Parts: sequence; structure tokens; C-alpha cells
Amino acid sequence: EKFRYWETKATRTTCSYCGVGCQLELLVKENKIVDIKPAHGESNEGLLCVKGKFAYNFVNHPDRLKKPLIRKNGKLEEATWEEAYEIILNKIREVKEQFGADAIAGFSSARVSNEENYLMSKFMRAVIGTNNVDHCARLCHASTVAGLAVTLGSGAMTNGIADVKHADAIFITGSNTTEAHPVMGAFVHQARKNGAKLIVADPREIPLAKEADVYLQIKPGSSVALSNAMIHVILQEGLEDEEYITNNTEGFEEVATVVKKYTPEYAAKICEVDPEDIRKAARLYASCNAASIIYSMGITQHVNGTENVMSLSNLALVTGNLGKSGAGVNPLRGQNNVQGACDMGALPVVFTGYQPVTNPDIVAKFEKAWGSKLSDKAGLTVTQAIPAAEHGEVKLLYIMGENPMISDPDTNHVRKALEKVFLVVQDIFLTETAELADVILPAAAFAEKDGTFVNTERRVQRIRKAVDAPGESKPDWMILTEIMNQLDYACSYNSPEEIFEEIRSVTPSYAGITYKRIDKEGISWPCPTEDHPGTPILHIGKPTRGTGLFKAVEWVESPELSNKEYPHILTTGRILYHFHTKTMTDKTDGINVVAPHNYIEIHPTLAKEKNIKDGDLVKATSPRGEIQVIARVTDIVDENVVFIPFHWGDGANVLTNGEVLDPYCKIPGFKVSGVKIEKLA
Ligand code: SF4
Repeated sequence: EKFRYWETKATRTTCSYCGVGCQLELLVKENKIVDIKPAHGESNEGLLCVKGKFAYNFVNHPDRLKKPLIRKNGKLEEATWEEAYEIILNKIREVKEQFGADAIAGFSSARVSNEENYLMSKFMRAVIGTNNVDHCARLCHASTVAGLAVTLGSGAMTNGIADVKHADAIFITGSNTTEAHPVMGAFVHQARKNGAKLIVADPREIPLAKEADVYLQIKPGSSVALSNAMIHVILQEGLEDEEYITNNTEGFEEVATVVKKYTPEYAAKICEVDPEDIRKAARLYASCNAASIIYSMGITQHVNGTENVMSLSNLALVTGNLGKSGAGVNPLRGQNNVQGACDMGALPVVFTGYQPVTNPDIVAKFEKAWGSKLSDKAGLTVTQAIPAAEHGEVKLLYIMGENPMISDPDTNHVRKALEKVFLVVQDIFLTETAELADVILPAAAFAEKDGTFVNTERRVQRIRKAVDAPGESKPDWMILTEIMNQLDYACSYNSPEEIFEEIRSVTPSYAGITYKRIDKEGISWPCPTEDHPGTPILHIGKPTRGTGLFKAVEWVESPELSNKEYPHILTTGRILYHFHTKTMTDKTDGINVVAPHNYIEIHPTLAKEKNIKDGDLVKATSPRGEIQVIARVTDIVDENVVFIPFHWGDGANVLTNGEVLDPYCKIPGFKVSGVKIEKLA
């Protein structure tokens, strides 16, 4: 695109990809984004990665949805907004009357703004009358929210992104930081330059593993054994913070008892690593002033994901690594606004700010604020709503900005479920999910609307309209407001700021945040009053919960590994170039040149055994289905482990298990699937 800088108008906003929430300027000429410039924010300090800098072509892309579509005789046809609304409204009324409000479920979105997530929650709860509202945090950090809320009193990242530069040691586990959160990865590099020690535990030899002081190539699903063994070493060698344990925690004795049997030798057999490396890791982590734990899906996406999280929390508590700069338990949230979607109560058990739907006082408060009778029954999670749709208990599914056909486990079952229900999809592209819809509503992208996103460090930041939405598409908040009104729930929001004002009036942790205050720099919640500076570091003085709760947890082997017919372990993840279900990144040609197709990483020994060469077509099969995928022979993975990125359709998630879920939070075990592989002739 040819342009001169003086011809463009710059609009500051927040990157719409990962949870780092980098600040940038959209340069616009004639209603078209022509370039992106990095801007300075506390979370990115002027840095951007390849996605934030270059992957903006999706906004102006010709494939954007521009008119509502309705299915007629099996085919999607263009329609007016009135026609589309009428079909949706009639169906909502019909289902509600015949089967009750709980036969309707809404999927909100980690991609859209806080204001839009809030309205989706309000739409489902106050207008439809059900708590069946959830979003894809269920598939990524539900175990973080459940685990850390129990142990520390707040289910979010404890410290700031750039704060990692103050760490003396960094323990990264289950996070491919430099690829999935590249700017966070840059800060880890800066910390290294400042002298921080680095411990990496990951089944793949990710880029950071190569520069780690200790790298543990753990078997997928063995994290609890590793944490317990590290605590074992810490206690045996007297490296614990006795004063912190005495003054700030409870439940220590139970953990001390449980970890007794997790000698480095015992855990090393489970994790398939060298016991000496476990000792080294424990000493490095525990012997310094401030050590930070960074983790992501490699910890959370397990059928024991919540216990994985609790075991990391135990590590921080036993060494007093909380409430100070350079320390903390730091889950990296994947998507631009997954933190915000959770904060806004797009979860089936809480309203905004994690206020429980089962607490009568809270329900009464929201009934008063919203002027509606509300349900106090926990709603369905994403992972429950899909099977409920397949079995006919959920009749209508309203999906805003999510793509479960690629992001959810066991694609074949997801397809059956989506084909069975009445499906409404609100999105910016005709995604694999939208292709199955009965009605599609065209939405505006991040650059076409105002609002707020919350990054992984709990920082509420502005997004701003820079260009007009294409065709007849509209911001999600406007669509939801129109639908609510047409269902006889009067609400008149003229701008996202008005919605935000309502949010902070019902959400104590957001009460002090205003658009004016975050005009230049975002604020990390909790921020209870307008003169409060926000809380970049949680648990200072004492844990938010009052005392930090140790939770004794035992390692259990994933049930996936018991079926000997599927002897290899499939693990999944992200790559640098594509984002999530790649709906947006695959609209930038340069990205498709460097990452054109799906692949499976196979260790050279396994490849030799199966007569597979680099570039061969391979069949991977699990009890859920089979896929064909191109082999990449590499020793990044262990001999019995294969890896497939989850971005491509008819890919990794055809193989993953959607039935066995973490008992605390219902997250599936994406990271461990039993598979077999064979070369295709
Ligand atoms: Fe965007 Fe994340 Fe890259 Fe920053 S690190 S530019 S937020 S994708």
C-alpha cells in the first residue's frame, strides 16, 4: 500500500491478538489501515511482535461479513437485519416457552471488548433468564481461575508483564513464551541480561529451553510430580521461607507430608528427566530473593489442570515468592481480552468481578441493578453446553466471536452438536463454526469500535475506533443492545463508555476505573476508588485471601495413556505466526508464506521406526478420529511425544478428548491425547 505518513491519521489502540496487550497506533488513510506503529505502554514499552506489527490485513479483507445471512433450504443467503432479528427473536421465544430458559446457551468471546462481554452476560442472565454463558477461557485458563482463587484469593496473574525484569530467577513451565507471548518473551530476555537464572520445564525443547540454566524435558502431564519434588528438595535442604509460611499461610503440614514420597528419583521416573536437574531447578528457584513462575496452557489444559496450578501456588507459598516485585505466580492469558471476558462474568458461575451467582446477596444486587429476576443456578460451561446440544438439552446456541469447530476438543462431536441446535453466530468472518449457523450477524472488528480490553496483567486498556466497519456490519455491543430491546428489555446505550460506567457501578474491583483515567495508560484492577492507583502487584503484605492456602495434591497419570492401542502422546500448542483459530492471521499473505499448512512434529527415532521422512504425509489416529498431516521430523519433541499446532481445521482437535474433564473447572486435557501414527503411502 503506497502512502505518505503525513497523509495518515494515527489512532492509539490495543493489539487484538495475545494477552500482552501491546499498545500501538493504527495509521489510516481513506478509511483503510495502511501501517501500524508501536506505541509506548507499561505492558510493552514500545515493543510489538510480528502479529501485532504486520497481521492487520484482516480488517480490510474482502472476505469480511458485510450483511446478515440466513439459512434457506440449506443455503446461507443475504438478508436484512430486520429479517435476521425476526428469525432469532421468534426462535428464542419459542425455545424459552417450550423448553425453558436453560435450553438456551450463549458463548461470549475473549476477542471482543469488556463492554460486549458484559452485555452478553446481561443478555443471557437478565433477558433470557439463564446462567448458561461461558467462553473459551473454559478451554485455556479455567483451571487458573479455579486454582488460584482457592489458594490465593484471586485467579489472575499476580505481577506485571514488565515486572519479570526484576526477577532473580524465572521458572517457565508449559508456556512457549517467545512464540505465544513474544513481547513477554522479550522481557524474559531482558531479565536474563540483568542476570536472572532461567528454569524451563516443557515437553518440547522450545526456544527458551536452549538458553535455560536448567531445562527439564518433562513428559506431558507430569507437572504435579515435578512441583512436589521441587518442594521436597526445598524442604529437605532448608530453603523454605519459614517466616512467610508461619505468618501468611495455612495447610503447610499436609503439603509437607504429601511431598515426602516425591524424592527427585521418584519424580524423575514420572517426569522422565534426570533427578539432578530437579534438584538444580529447586535450588535455583528457592535460593534467590525474587523468583517468578510463568505458566500457560501446558499447565492448565489437563484433566488435572487445577491441581497443576495449585502445585505451582504451593511452590510460591513455600518460598514466600508472592507480593513482591520480580516474583509471583504468573499465568499468561492467551487472547487479547480473555482476562476481561472472565472479569465481566462471561462465566456460568459468576457475575462481573467474580461475584458468585449462588450468593443470594449478590443475586439481589444484580436483580436490582438489572431490573430482572435472575437465576441462582450455576449455568453450563462450554464443555457441557456442546454435549448438551448434541443430546438435545440445549436447543439454541448463540455464539459471539468464537470458533469451537477449531478451538474445542473432539471436532466430530462439536460438528454434530452445532448441526443439531438452532445456531446463531455473530462474527467478522464466515468461520468454520459460522458455516454451520442458521443465522449469521456481521460484527465490527477491534479497529472499528471503542471499548476496553484487559491484558494478562489485569490492566484495563482502551481500544479506539480508527476505521468504519464494512458494509452493514455493526459492533457487537450494538447488536446485543438491539436484540435485548426487541425482546422487550429496555436498554439504551449510546456508547461503550456508558456500558463501562454501568460495569463499574456493579463491580467493586473496577469501581475506580474510568475512560478518562485510562486515556493514556491502563490501570490494573483491583481499583476500588477513583483516587486508587490500581494494583500492579497482588498479595502485597498478605495474600488477597487473608492467608495463602497450601493444597496438597498428588500426581495422577492421565487416563488417556492407559489405552495401549494409542501408544504415543499427542500434545498441542501455538506457533509464532498464527493466532488461535487463525481466522485473522491467515488473511495476511506473508504469514501464510511462512506458515502455510499444518504439521506434526515427530522425533527422528520414532520417524525411523515408522519409516516416516520429513515432508511425508502421516495419518494420526485417536479414539475420537483421524487426520492426515505433514511430518516434520525434529528432536524438539521426545521420542514418544508428537506435537500438532491447533490452529488448523480438521487438525489436532479432531484427536483430542472432550469427554474427560478436570473435576474442578471442566477444562479438557488438550495437552495429553493417546494417538497412533502411520505413514500414508
Ligand atoms: Fe500483539 Fe501479543 Fe504481539 Fe504484543 S506480543 S504485538 S499483544 S500479539
